[in-house]
This record gives sequence, structure tokens and C-alpha cells, in this order.
Amino acid sequence: MRGVPHQGPRDTGRDGPQGRSGGLRELWAAPRGAQAGPRRGRPRRARRAGRHHRRRRRRSVNPGEGAVLTCHIDGASRGNPGPAGAGVVVYDGSGRERRAAGIYLGETTNNVAEYLALIEALRAASDICREDGLERDRTSVVIRTDSQLVARQVSGEYRVKSQALAPLLGDFRREAGGFYRVSVLHVPREQNRRADELANQAIDDAFGRGKSGASPRYSRLSHLECSRCERRLDPAEPHGPCPACGAPLLARYDLAGLVWPPRGNDCSLGNPGQCPEHNSMWRYHELLPVTAPQYVVSLGEGLTPLVAMGGLERELGLGRVLVKDDRLNPTGTFKSRGASAAVSRLVELGIEKCAIPTQGNAGSAFAAYSARAGLRFLTAMPEDTPAAIRAECEAYGAEVVTVKGLLPDAGRYVRERAAAEGWYVASTFDEPYRAEGKKTIALELFEAFGSRWPDAIVFPVGGGVGLVGAWKAAQELATAGVAGAAEPRSGATGAAGPGSGASGTTDGRPRLPRLFAVQAAGCAPVVKAYGEGRDETEPFANAETVAAGLRVPSPKAGFLILRALRASGGAAVAVPDEVILRTVVKLRREEGLNFCPEGAAAVAALPELARRGWLDGCREVVVVSTGTGLKYPSG
Ligand SMILES: [Zn+2]
Ligand SMILES: [Zn+2]
Repeated sequence: MRGVPHQGPRDTGRDGPQGRSGGLRELWAAPRGAQAGPRRGRPRRARRAGRHHRRRRRRSVNPGEGAVLTCHIDGASRGNPGPAGAGVVVYDGSGRERRAAGIYLGETTNNVAEYLALIEALRAASDICREDGLERDRTSVVIRTDSQLVARQVSGEYRVKSQALAPLLGDFRREAGGFYRVSVLHVPREQNRRADELANQAIDDAFGRGKSGASPRYSRLSHLECSRCERRLDPAEPHGPCPACGAPLLARYDLAGLVWPPRGNDCSLGNPGQCPEHNSMWRYHELLPVTAPQYVVSLGEGLTPLVAMGGLERELGLGRVLVKDDRLNPTGTFKSRGASAAVSRLVELGIEKCAIPTQGNAGSAFAAYSARAGLRFLTAMPEDTPAAIRAECEAYGAEVVTVKGLLPDAGRYVRERAAAEGWYVASTFDEPYRAEGKKTIALELFEAFGSRWPDAIVFPVGGGVGLVGAWKAAQELATAGVAGAAEPRSGATGAAGPGSGASGTTDGRPRLPRLFAVQAAGCAPVVKAYGEGRDETEPFANAETVAAGLRVPSPKAGFLILRALRASGGAAVAVPDEVILRTVVKLRREEGLNFCPEGAAAVAALPELARRGWLDGCREVVVVSTGTGLKYPSG
């Protein structure tokens, strides 16, 4: 049995365009944790409550007035504002319980939650009228709430001063207008236990925690921190790079008490597609930066498969080689993850127009998610960006400008337009939240391997967002004390790697997966700096490679990439273009895998990593396939 919110056409789910309409839709989260009706049984208290108002109803209704539906409602908010829920119980004229639902509302106040419960009760009452063939204008609804404020505001006894509540009162009146009569009565709290329980249960269910647990939050986001000078910034404001030193800002979380693995595969709504938390990377919402579910802009990104590469295992004499196949994302590349996180944050922060320079797949990902969110999107790209990607951006309604030169030239164009016209610039690592989306690749791997890390993860590295994200995910799980991520590195995982971090002995530091960066030989600033033992990358002169996504001559997060490689015991390696192209062809013909050149580059690096002994002792090697080959002219 489904809960109240799914009964009628006024379903308040999140599958429509977001950020376009005002009012209720913005406040309203996808209903979750909807409770079963009478079939699952209800507590004794509730039966008593039911009897109680059946008695009251008989006394209060005039014969011949038509049917009477009785509702009990409650809104609960932990923190006020804080995680909130609505509880709604509806009885029909025969006293039978027809609806009992708890609905998670995201973070809001007690009073807003009360109003939303009120409106939900009327919608449920409308649905019951439809089901029972009752005429609404001959049906009365009696609503009981323990909120005196709401009862008196609705009756007109109190004036509504709050700007948040006035439109909700309007919505309530519109819903109520269709009925013969709607009365809202204040009852003592103890007569409203059932609705109260449902509201609280909805909050608990949303966070997978019992009532005794810590105060649940949709996101554990606490602040932004500069990756270089450690300056702290308020995440409630939009930010670019660090205002003090220009380095990337990173999202930081309150990690104590993190629930792992996240609950959320037990969707009880019976309404596929309703909850990103159940079928996308938003499964990891506690470690993502969006503070309430109504802001999430999701197209079903993430939760991509691992594909076994038996041929490579035999050829290279490695243990298990698996591809994390991020081609299976809504825009065909792992950029979907970053765009979903970044665009969701833009929606949450109320930003309406966003621009990025791109030379490929980030542009199409941001274009798609901007379309979904109803944001305006501008992208500038070098002239030689694949035509398919340009067409894709335009198809999503983006403003696309081609620029002579390379990515930095496109970046300059975007900054000029932004300065003149007020676009928010969401360039790689100027915008703090893309990395949060990308880090879910690592979270998925940790979960897929049974709450431990695979021994090595190989990333193609242009801007390095995926690799830095993976490093960040590993640190966060370790800091949260998640079993399997927090234990010190031990000799059990094998022989020495290239870096001091993988010494093969217990050194008291958390065990991270070894992270490997693969670059194209024609643009390898990270490989060069790694080889020279430097902590910073230098601009790579005359950058040129077929893998457009790897053509980032001066990655803004170069020092973070190098830090992650060394801290994890990984390394960096470059692959010539001709090897990349041969690997693209080989993967198509021999494995049926159509990878973009960037993803193929990561696979192409395996023989070299193995030859240098850098994969010795690795039981599992995961290669991140970042995107589909469909957008590239066939090689
Ligand atoms: Zn700084
Ligand atoms: Zn669900």
C-alpha cells in the first residue's frame, strides 16, 4: 500500500524540472518513508485515537450533510529548522483508517511542516472522495492538529505574519475550497500520537537511524576549507576559489557518527524514480554537499558497474583487473557526477546562470543538468572540440561559444562574460563541489569491495577531479572511523609500491587505495612533477594529445593530485597517443568496450605500471573508464 503522496495527480515528487517554479514545490521534498496503511497494523494508541474521534464525529455531524472525513496531522522538525517530517492519518465516514503516511520534508521549520501536513491531509481526502465516488462539495473534512498556532491561523483568529507560511496558508485555502467544509481543530498532543509518530518515523527512515540516534542531517556538510591555506568559509554562500590564495576550496563534513554503508536501497515508496537516494550517487547524500533533498538535481548518475577484464589479467599476469565503467552515466561520462553535485548546489544557493569553459564532456554534463534544473548555461570551448559534444550542448539548450586556442583561452572568455553579465563560473576547482560528485566513484568502489578498498585505482588525469575526489573519499571514510577504511595500512596488502606510503608495513596511517594518475605523453604535467619529486606542477609547454580531456597543461589542483599520489603510495605514468589510439581499437574489437581516448589511456597504462613493478602485490586493480567513445570520431 502506498502512502498519501502517491495517491493523486498532485504528487509532489522531484521528477519534474526543478528550480523553475516557486512556492510549494521548492519547499517540498520527495515523499519518503511513507508508511503502510492498516494492513501493516497500527499501534494500540492509534486505535484508541481512532475510536475517540469516531465518537466525536457522530456527535458533531448533522444528518444529511454528506460524508465526513477525519484527519489527524502533525509536523515535526528536529532543530526547527532541521530535518522535518509530516504525519497524516485519514479516517473515512465509517471510521476506517484509509491513509497513514509519514513524509520526509527535508530541512524546514515546525510550522512549515504543520502546514505541509495540513495540505497533504486535504489531498488525501480528495483522493478518498475520488475512490469512493463522493462529491467533494458535499464532503466535510475535520482536521485535528496539536499545533494551536496552525489551528488559530487557519481559523483567522491569528494573523499569519511569516513570509514562509502565508503562501502555504493560501495553498491550504485553495485545497480546502473544493470541500463542503473544512474545520481545523486543536487537540492535546496525547490525542495526536499516531500522526506524531508517523512524522518522526519519516525523519528516522530518511536517515536510517533510530529515534535515539544523533540528530540526522541529509548532508554532513560543515564548511569549506582552502586546500592550500586552510582558510575556512561558510558553505551557505556561493564561492569560487579561495579568496585569500586562489587555491581550490574543498567541502568538509562532520564525520562523527556517519552511517556506513548508507541505508537506502529499501525504498518503500513503490514509485521508481522518486528518490535519487535510491538509484543514483545520491545514495551517499550524507557525504555530499546538498543539505536537503529538494535541491538535488539528478538524472540517475553513478552506481555504475564493474566490468571484469579477464584478457588483461592473463596478459599482464595481474590478479583481478576491473573497469569501473562510468560510461553508463546520463551524459555518457563521469562528468555527470560532478555536474549533478555542482548544479544541485547552484540550485540550493539560488544561482540562476552558470558558465564553464570546456573542451568536451564537462560541457555536455553541465548542459544536461542545467536543463534539468532550469538554469541558464553558457559554455565556451576550443574550436577543435569534437562536433558531437558541441551539438550535444546545443541540444540541451546551452549557449555555446567556440574560441580560438586552448582551454585557457575559453576560460578567459568565460571570465570576461561572467564579469560583464554576472554568470557564476563553475570551472574545474574554481567551483568547490564537482569533486564531491566525482568522489562517489570511490565510495561505490569501497562498497562494492565489501567495505574495503581495492588495492589500486587507476585514473586518467586531466584536471584531476576524480583522483582528488577518490583521495578525499578515502580520508573521509577513515576519519569517520568506518571499519575497513580506518585500519592502519598493513603488510597484508603486499609488496612495496613506488611511493614511501605503500611500504608494506604498518605505519599507523589509514590504508588508502594506491592512486595512479595516467596522462598523455603530449600533456603530462603531473607525471613530470611526480618524476622530478616536486610538490607543484608547472605549465606543460606545447600540450597536444588526442585525448582532449587530458589536455590540461596546468591543472589547478596539481599540488593536490601530487599529494594524493604520494600519500596513497601511487604514482603517475604517461602514455603516448599512438598507444592510446591502439588501445581504443583493441578494447572495441576484443572486449566490446567503446571507451573514449581518456578512459582507454588509463587501460593503456596498465602494462607500463605492471612492467615497473608498481602493481606488485595488488590483488585488485580498478581502472576508471571515464566516458563513452561514441562522441569521438572513430579512430
Ligand atoms: Zn587559500
Ligand atoms: Zn525511495
